[in-house]
Amino acid sequence: MNSRRDFLQKVSLGIGVTALAGLPATAAAPSVPLVRAEKQLRVAIMGLGGYANIVADAMQKCTMATLVGVVSGTPSKIDTWKKKYNIPDKNTYNYETVSELKNNPDIDIVYVTTPNSLHHKHVLQIAATGKHVICEKPVADNAKQTREMIAACEKAGVKFYIGYRLHFEPHTRELIRMRESGELGKIMHVNNYMGFKSGDPTQWRLKKALAGGGAMMDVGVYALNGARYCTGEEPIWVTAQETKTDPIKFKEVDETITFQLGFPSGVIANCGTTYNFNNFERLYVIGEKGFVELSPAFGYGPIKGRTNAGPMNMPPHVPHQTLQMDGLADIILNNKPDPHITGQEGLKDMIVVDAVYESIRKGGQKIFINKA
Ligand code: NDP
Repeated sequence: MNSRRDFLQKVSLGIGVTALAGLPATAAAPSVPLVRAEKQLRVAIMGLGGYANIVADAMQKCTMATLVGVVSGTPSKIDTWKKKYNIPDKNTYNYETVSELKNNPDIDIVYVTTPNSLHHKHVLQIAATGKHVICEKPVADNAKQTREMIAACEKAGVKFYIGYRLHFEPHTRELIRMRESGELGKIMHVNNYMGFKSGDPTQWRLKKALAGGGAMMDVGVYALNGARYCTGEEPIWVTAQETKTDPIKFKEVDETITFQLGFPSGVIANCGTTYNFNNFERLYVIGEKGFVELSPAFGYGPIKGRTNAGPMNMPPHVPHQTLQMDGLADIILNNKPDPHITGQEGLKDMIVVDAVYESIRKGGQKIFINKA
């Protein structure tokens, strides 16, 4: 844990990477020119929308991961990306030709950034080509689909990661370190919120067939995933309540959900998510010896934090996706297993998401999960 944290801090500061990974200093620090490592993770992105653009731009600062290909249903985007990122024709695919990736030795991994409900189909397609896969959150519509995705990747012998960028983010790493080292003492309570006011009423995020669900699927997973890394435990029961103040806009998907997670130690995490108001982003974990509060906690940052000892003084902000993609490259290229970003991590979240929706359907009933 410490060496990982040190690595991230050194990456952020642009120092010491040579010593750690046999690499030159990274361009993550603005004043240090980018020198790419000899070994590169060669990445293609599938679904060239808003988030794909953020990942692609952040990857320009990576030292160990390079954007080399695209999969897109929009020819004009392929043209733009080819020029912008110097992508060769032979590394461009559409959704009909994607199976041909199997004949391309110049792509190692495909990052799936399509709408939520397409993740299942697209991950299965990529796994069948023999390429490793990164899939955006929420991993799928439900736990059943997630299990199928994990099984397909295992069968194909490829790695399967979820785009949990915060697992590479320094404040988040620090809170996990504080909890694991015992600095916070026994964890007593967690209070996590993540939501925002959604805009365009015609967007796919408000259509169940493409989004799988509403705020819970999109950003509630941050509060939930955060509750799991705040406690280091898996919930054993869930209760949840939904309110809908705009039943027209949110006809197909959930608008505002509060949910409670009960953990084996007795800790309860009180969590919430919304698509209908802003300023709803905070992580707060309280132990017997101290606390950590991150606010903002889950967005692109800069993340800000304080503990019982005062403000958290972390390294200067680096785009989370730069840290994530270099971190993943380090894991894959140097065979370093990280259980916290694999398909199994996504499955643990989806089991809870299923229980949240089940509890709502059953009028807030307590749903027991992860029984021994
Ligand atoms: P966008 O709508 O901006 O982009 C999605 C892209 O998917 C489209 O541009 C399109 O690309 C492709 N696509 C394929 N089929 C469809 C379809 N039927 N309808 C719409 N688009 C389609 O979405 P985002 O980029 O905002 O989100 C994509 C994924 O990334 C989601 O799962 C979301 O949860 C996740 N995300 C994660 C974030 C994070 O911080 N980790 C932040 C934002 C999003 P093309 O034209 O190239 O085929």
